[in-house]
Amino acid sequence: MKLVTYSDQGKIKLGAVKGDGVVDLTKHLPAPPANMIGLIAAWSDIRAGAERAVDQSAADAALSAVRILAPIARPGKIMAIGLNYADHVKETGQATPRNQIWFTKAVTSINGPFDPIELPRASQQTDYEAEMVVVIGRRCKHVARERAAEVIFGYTAGNDVSVRDWQMRTTQWVIGKSFDTHAPIGPWIVTPDEVGDPHTLGIRCLVNGELRQNSNTKNLIFNVFDQIAELSQAMTLEPGDVIFTGTPGGVALGMKPPQWLKEGDKVRVEIDRIGALEAVMRSERAG
Ligand code: MG
Repeated sequence: MKLVTYSDQGKIKLGAVKGDGVVDLTKHLPAPPANMIGLIAAWSDIRAGAERAVDQSAADAALSAVRILAPIARPGKIMAIGLNYADHVKETGQATPRNQIWFTKAVTSINGPFDPIELPRASQQTDYEAEMVVVIGRRCKHVARERAAEVIFGYTAGNDVSVRDWQMRTTQWVIGKSFDTHAPIGPWIVTPDEVGDPHTLGIRCLVNGELRQNSNTKNLIFNVFDQIAELSQAMTLEPGDVIFTGTPGGVALGMKPPQWLKEGDKVRVEIDRIGALEAVMRSERAG
C-alpha cells in the first residue's frame, strides 16, 4: 500500500493511493487517526480496514487534484547517516568509515515532496542528496539486524539537502543539514510488501533533467538493517521516526567546479518502486 498525507479543499487527510487517485482513509475508516504517526502506531488494528477501503472503494479524488504533503509532518526524530555509498565517500575525499556516522536533521526541516526548497540567505553552497528513507513502525530498542525488518513500517524518498559551507566549517554537520525546507520526503510511504528487497532499488537525482546521481540501494555500505541495529542500541525508535539512509556519488560538492543549486533549478529524486519528489529551488523569503 502507498499511504499519503494530502490536502483537499483545505482539509488535511490521510489516504491510500489507488491507480492515479487517492482513497480517503479519513472518510472510510471507522476511527481515523489524527495523522500519519497515529496511523502507523495503530497500523495493526487499522490495516485490514484500510485494505478493504482500497479494494472496495473508488478513488475519492485524482492525485493531480490534491496537494500531496510530506507523509509525516513532524517526525519524532530524523536520523541520517553520512558517507554510506563508496562513490560518495570517494568524491568527498574521505576515508571509508569503519563505524556508522550519524547526525540529525531538525524536525522543522521537513518539507512537502513538491514544495519549493529554500536557498538560504546565509549560504551560497546548497546541495542535493537523493536518499531512500526508512519509516519506523513500532517502538523498539536493541533490535538485532536479523529482526530489523519487523520494525520497518515502510519506505519513502527523501532529499537530504545540505548547506555545505555550514556543514563543513565545524566538525558537527547538524546545522548545515537542518535548514528549513531541507528535508523533503514523500510522495508517500510504501509498505514493505510492495517494495520487496529494499537493497535492490535504483536511486537517481536529476537537476533540470540532467542525471547527477544514478545508483542502486544495493551499494549501501551499511544497509538498512545494519542501521536500525546500530541506532537502536542507543535510542528508542518510535513510530514515524525517519531514517535517511545515505546518498550515492554525484552531488554538487564532488563536481569540479561544484555546481551548487541556484534559483529556479528543478531537483528531482527518484527511487524505483517508491516514487519521486520534485522541487523548484527558491531564494529564502524575508520574514
Ligand atoms: Mg545524506
